[in-house]
Amino acid sequence: MADEQAAKRIAEFIEPLRVTPGSRVTLAKDFDPGYKADFVKKKDGLELLQRGVELMTEFQSRLAAQDTYGLLVVLQALDAAGKDGTIRHVMSGVNPQGVFVHSFKVPSAEEINHDYLWRYARDLPGRGEIGIFNRSHYEEVLVVRVHPENLTRQRLPKAARGRDVWKRRYRDINDWEHHLADNGFKIVKLLLNLSQEEQRIRFLRRIDLPDHNWKFSAADAHERTYWSDYQKAFSEMLTATSTEWAPWYVIPADHKWFARICASAVIANALIEIDPHYPRVSPEARKALEATKVELEAQAPKGAAPDPFAAETAAASAPPDAPQKTGKKARKKAAKAAKKARKAAKAERKERESVEQADRLAGRETEKQTLHEDEREARTADHEAGADGEAAGKGAH
Ligand code: AMP
Ligand code: MG
Repeated sequence: MADEQAAKRIAEFIEPLRVTPGSRVTLAKDFDPGYKADFVKKKDGLELLQRGVELMTEFQSRLAAQDTYGLLVVLQALDAAGKDGTIRHVMSGVNPQGVFVHSFKVPSAEEINHDYLWRYARDLPGRGEIGIFNRSHYEEVLVVRVHPENLTRQRLPKAARGRDVWKRRYRDINDWEHHLADNGFKIVKLLLNLSQEEQRIRFLRRIDLPDHNWKFSAADAHERTYWSDYQKAFSEMLTATSTEWAPWYVIPADHKWFARICASAVIANALIEIDPHYPRVSPEARKALEATKVELEAQAPKGAAPDPFAAETAAASAPPDAPQKTGKKARKKAAKAAKKARKAAKAERKERESVEQADRLAGRETEKQTLHEDEREARTADHEAGADGEAAGKGAH
């Protein structure tokens, strides 16, 4: 368990951001984009951000070692709310090997050819991993709802695009997330909540600063005309899909530094709840480790300590008045044990070689199959590159 006090502080800090499952939400009324808790200035919150990042570093490492649970972080927001910056800051302390970010854009021809959850399921994190969805399956009840032409593009059968389509999608999403949670995949859902005025200012900044021009598109500004439609879609989404197994957190996004503290605190809290542990080795594996240790000790050059860590380990495990084994007798014993270990290692090597030989034979078959699959994938990619040009954007604008 993380140090109890820090865990408690984090849980209390994020409580006001949590959407109580079963509650009815009106985003504009219930959540203030300018909220900063008790922090007056950025520097007041830095310690908490630092603590959150440290906790994440430690817990990610344990999550990977335990290899039993995975964590999915879902980030939703309107343009310029700070999704990219949040990802950059929050993940600053984690090992990139165990973290994947997937950004979801307008679906490709291949993606639109499947059921609407297909592409999100394809990019889920595995056990021991943290996956971040920059936009997510929630676009299917947000942009697709605000711009119904996106739904038309999905070529659904009539029964699946009736009046109850959004209700059905909320149900699908809740069921899917419940299934993931039951199978060891915790889901953290963050909505970065930006005010309309702050978005206007951030867009102007993107236009006025040449280095930021690339981030701006006229379509983003046009999308502002759908502001109240999005607020309504957000409110319904929060009401229908904040569940006990995957609750929503509404992150106040008008102050970037505060949004980052909140996001890192919610993610740290999820990892604390998973409480992953480094695995303990089995007695058999322990025995094998001991045999290798003896072998390595016997290889020590003259004058070198057979095991520089021996004193530490012995001090940690031996009873305080245990007699020390030193001198000729101990060395003789070590050499005998080393001989035995070498014999065992030789037998193991032989066994491994024969298994590898069998694998190689089987592998030739698999290799042929993989080549065939690669070829097929390359053909699909070529086909998609052609089809992508035809893919429509969000709304007709
Ligand atoms: P950005 O994240 O700014 O690079 O933009 C990605 C764009 O893809 C946004 O305009 C999203 O609204 C759009 N998008 C993401 N998912 C979907 C979806 N399922 N259907 C239609 N548009 C989407
Ligand atoms: Mg954009």
